Amino acid sequence: MTERNSALVTGSTSGIGWAIAQALAHAGHDVMLNGFGDPASIAALQHQLAEATGVQVAYSGADMSRPAEIARMVREAEEHFGHVDILINNAGVQFVAPVDEFPDDKWEQIVSINLSSNFHAIKAVLPGMKQRNRGRIVNVASAHGLVASPFKSAYVAAKHGVIGLTKTVALELAETAVTCNAVCPGYVLTPLVHGQIKDQAKAHGMSEEEVVRHVILASQPNKRFVSLDELAQVVLFLCSDAAASITGSALPVDGGWTAR
Ligand code: NAD
Repeated sequence: MTERNSALVTGSTSGIGWAIAQALAHAGHDVMLNGFGDPASIAALQHQLAEATGVQVAYSGADMSRPAEIARMVREAEEHFGHVDILINNAGVQFVAPVDEFPDDKWEQIVSINLSSNFHAIKAVLPGMKQRNRGRIVNVASAHGLVASPFKSAYVAAKHGVIGLTKTVALELAETAVTCNAVCPGYVLTPLVHGQIKDQAKAHGMSEEEVVRHVILASQPNKRFVSLDELAQVVLFLCSDAAASITGSALPVDGGWTAR
């Protein structure tokens, strides 16, 4: 996978997805961005990345909660680049509430965006990857795919599901040159985490500073946020030739959180 490939990164208009898209583009791969946001700002991101790297940067506004839009996004990427070699399932949302108060619509939304979208995107890219016997799939799960925390029932369930899906896909493809892995980040300071800090402050009746110190980073033994670049470089490694024998893994990038 060292030569120029085409990558599709879901949820890449912000945070971790944008960092991964940048790392892939800087490594010489064409990239299709996806995600929500102001159209002018997204066009500026596209332009900025293409200028900085010389690769093609496309964009799909497909909603990851809608299977038909996911299938269309993959078709568009295949038409645009000729093929999709790398799929990064990264789009994700969060909502925090006690399980008996958890709104039904929030449960459905989190399961569809954080878990089912991975299935639909994998299903759509696989025929092409199998045909070319070439591909890398990386699902951005979470430390919450390996362990739980209170108030995050939908997120924890969806991320555990992502790891199960990752293992199943890896086994189905084990004799091909297509790998499927998950990365399990601890806390990375992105807009998603800013939102959680606010929600957790409400749930625990604490200030936002207290939540960062005593709740969020309480579970992360290295006591710092994972950097966007650290995480993007791990994903890039999983997309490389060196990682050809790594498949079905759920790799913690969590400062020791899940070592406890
Ligand atoms: P973020 O909020 O910064 O970015 C989320 C991205 O997903 C944005 O581009 C947004 O537009 C997109 N998105 C949201 N709903 C979408 C939908 N329906 N269709 C298409 N795109 C949609 O979040 P982030 O922190 O960068 O999180 C990215 C992934 O990393 C998520 O799957 C999250 O669960 C996971 N993760 C984050 C952390 C962390 O600490 N930030 C830790 C572990 C795992």
